[in-house]
Amino acid sequence: MTYIRSIEHADIVHRCFRCGYCKFPEDYSDFNCPSYKAFGWDTFSPGGRMWLIRAWLLGEIETSQRFAEILYSCVACDNCKNQCVFGKFRDFLPEIFQEAKAELVSDGLIPPAVRDYFKAIVVSGNPYKLPQAERGKWSEGTGLQKYLGQEYLFYVGCVGSYDEVGQKMAKSVGSMLVKTGVSVGILGEEETCDGNEVKILGEMGLFGELAHANIEKFKTKGVKKIITLDPHALNVFKNDYPKLGADFQVFHYTEILAGLVKKKNIKFKTYSARITYHDPCYLGRHNQIYAAPREILRAVPGVELIEMRRHGLNAFCCGGGGGNFFTDILGTGENSAGRVRVQEALQTGANVIAVACPICAKMLTDAVKIENLEDKLEILSIVEIMNRAQK
Ligand code: SF4
Ligand code: SF4
Repeated sequence: MTYIRSIEHADIVHRCFRCGYCKFPEDYSDFNCPSYKAFGWDTFSPGGRMWLIRAWLLGEIETSQRFAEILYSCVACDNCKNQCVFGKFRDFLPEIFQEAKAELVSDGLIPPAVRDYFKAIVVSGNPYKLPQAERGKWSEGTGLQKYLGQEYLFYVGCVGSYDEVGQKMAKSVGSMLVKTGVSVGILGEEETCDGNEVKILGEMGLFGELAHANIEKFKTKGVKKIITLDPHALNVFKNDYPKLGADFQVFHYTEILAGLVKKKNIKFKTYSARITYHDPCYLGRHNQIYAAPREILRAVPGVELIEMRRHGLNAFCCGGGGGNFFTDILGTGENSAGRVRVQEALQTGANVIAVACPICAKMLTDAVKIENLEDKLEILSIVEIMNRAQK
């Protein structure tokens, strides 16, 4: 087989059987690939996407805006990586999608929303095009100090720094860390984008610049342990930065808070609520952190934790991964991930969806509004629930 194009894993692309198992959860009860669920065409499924990439590498189809949109509709949820039936090959599925996107970036043939995202990061340092000087504003009133060698750096990320819903979560977590005596500081206006979405969207040059600059900054400041607000930042710090020379430990805030709850450093009064927990893909499938958020919720007297049909390894994405939170390529149609997910939560009989990621918080808050479920479902971060229940 002679390809006219190449990507790193080009030699295994042809191994996909196109059997389609990868688009389901373990029990095959529904479609678990958000892109396939939203559009319903096989080219939007993981296997279909593999065959499209194969045809493109062979020169059977040309690069086009349509092809780019199909590739960029993948939200990097990693369901296919877990469900593909084909042994070790499946480990490389998301990488193959990412490599194909990187090739499109090199060709300059990317959807306008993706191009705008990169431009905003280059020009402003964040996707919101807001001044760097405003990056730490959210922390006012939390008691958080600038990082000056404390045990932990609390890294918030672009969504926690600039988005209203993200800021609310950042404030709650920051205040809780201070209140419970954790030795922690923030970078404020010195913080820069972590690059997780830049990488997944395929801008490898920009990703390298961001990652190296962050690694250098963390080293200069003597950072040894990082607590992240955003599971996306946790992912890139934990899995990509070490390959570029980083040497620090990374925790999600739910892991730190679960430890404090276990040690009885945080005590709760009764808070009665029926809660279902939405696993963020970058906390769960990408980094196998399923227990910590649930341990916190189970420690609150009066909380009834009810699992959704698809949870843990089989959780259905909120639709915000793979940069879609910023590019909105999946859209908000009836079968868009967020809308499907809040309906699934409703079926449990819960009145609260607990979230651990600022992107999930925003995606599901918007979906609840679109589905007119505001009087039935409240989206609350794990730490907001802790705040309501704390003695
Ligand atoms: S990616 Fe794996 S499960 Fe999906 S169609 Fe290809 S071989 Fe089958
Ligand atoms: S990573 Fe998720 S959205 Fe992307 S192809 Fe796989 S299952 Fe679909």
